[in-house]
Amino acid sequence: MHETSIVNSIVKTLEMEFEAKKLNKMKAIFLKVGKLSNIEPRLLHNAYTAKYPCGTKFHHVQLHIESTEIKIQCEFCNHITKVQNYRFLCEKCEKPSKNLIQGEEMLIHKVEFDD
Ligand SMILES: [Zn+2]
Repeated sequence: MHETSIVNSIVKTLEMEFEAKKLNKMKAIFLKVGKLSNIEPRLLHNAYTAKYPCGTKFHHVQLHIESTEIKIQCEFCNHITKVQNYRFLCEKCEKPSKNLIQGEEMLIHKVEFDD
């Protein structure tokens, strides 16, 4: 399953970044998931709960998922447009653009630990 491998890679990233001792005190993970990333926040939550059921080490960690807007930057006038209804047009000069600057990413934005 797509979402399970995403959960695995998030945890792997955190394990490389932080010591095990610190990770045991982790209480929340904040993710930013672009609307074009093909990641469904609900399915990601389900995959997380399936991987860490009650009694496992990261079970108590809260997963916060913020979904980020699609944004394009016009090649002609450099204007940044928030894409709505998948209309990839510059709102200033109305030229079509596929120059995505936000919306495809999956980022670990923040991690919180208990003191
Ligand atoms: Zn433009």
